Amino acid sequence: MFDKNIITIDGSRGEGGGQILRSALALSLVTGKPFCIKNIRSKRAKPGLMRQHLTAVNAAAEVGNSETRGAAIGSQELFFAPQEVRHGSYNFAVGTAGSATLVLQTVLPALLLGAPEQMSVLTQEGGTHNPLAPPFDFLAHAFLPLLNRMGPRIETWLDRPGFYPAGGGKFTVSIQPTPKLQRLDLLERGEIIQRSAESRVAHISIGIAEKQIGLLREKLLWPEECFHTKSVRDSQGPGNILIVEIKSEHITEVFTGFGERGVSSEQVVAGVTREVSEYLDAGVPVGPHLADQLLIPMALAGGGKFRTVEPTPHTSTNTEVIQQFLEIPIAKREIKKGVWEISVG
Ligand code: ATP
Repeated sequence: MFDKNIITIDGSRGEGGGQILRSALALSLVTGKPFCIKNIRSKRAKPGLMRQHLTAVNAAAEVGNSETRGAAIGSQELFFAPQEVRHGSYNFAVGTAGSATLVLQTVLPALLLGAPEQMSVLTQEGGTHNPLAPPFDFLAHAFLPLLNRMGPRIETWLDRPGFYPAGGGKFTVSIQPTPKLQRLDLLERGEIIQRSAESRVAHISIGIAEKQIGLLREKLLWPEECFHTKSVRDSQGPGNILIVEIKSEHITEVFTGFGERGVSSEQVVAGVTREVSEYLDAGVPVGPHLADQLLIPMALAGGGKFRTVEPTPHTSTNTEVIQQFLEIPIAKREIKKGVWEISVG
């Protein structure tokens, strides 16, 4: 069915989820190389394109003026051929609570490259605070500031939060591109400047937030002024998120846990505490989620290096996808117990 010169991606490799598709779309837009992907999300309970993934495909098709085949809900095979990257104003709406930040992840690499006058403004609608996806706070405080150090000027603001399962959130992103991304090296965290932990609830009892913060204080033993609770009023549906931000001299990291029906506050707090403690103990700048998300920008810059905790399957799988589009070495090695160095280029 497909031309053999076209890059063929097996969506069942490694992690076997939506990231393989999004990374392939992002890299195809930047390089202009067409690809076909089979076995989309084959390792997930409901394989194929779900609403969030289809929105990402359609967003990439719009930005790249692309030819697509197989872009339909449930599809496990897709052909994608971009023509040209068009910077400009776009509205990408997932239509469900699917993650709007993951849709942004797909088109951002293409839109941040270009002449500075080729501005883009994106309105992203859907979930802004979803389990298993970058929450808006991570995007705004951890990921985008690092991208900005590489040359572009990206600003974002939250218009309305959207929690799973109701969604209905919205955020805006303005992007002033850079002709060439600068390499980024993140080897040291530096001194910790600020620590904060906040439990947010929307349309559910503030008592839940107070309980989570109480439990977290017992675990982290930080001063009282680091801990906060907040009641969110402008979301469509109920939600609960526990966010820890660690601002250091050279980087800000954000860790999150989500309260859901059937998940106790104890479990939410334990998950966040584990990630935060691992990060603090390792003394590294980059946490597990930034690690997989920094690979594409660093590869496009032609180089970069960072120290992180043990790489996740997302990081390994993303490495494989990048190397199908770009001839760039990406190496990882454990430099001491629990501390890894990843070199790109
Ligand atoms: P699936 O196919 O699993 O339904 P998906 O399309 O939602 O998935 P994945 O392939 O699992 O996504 O990729 C999820 C992405 O979200 C990864 O880049 C991962 O690092 C990021 N991510 C997950 N949780 C967080 C978090 N708490 N903070 C920041 N980023 C996160």
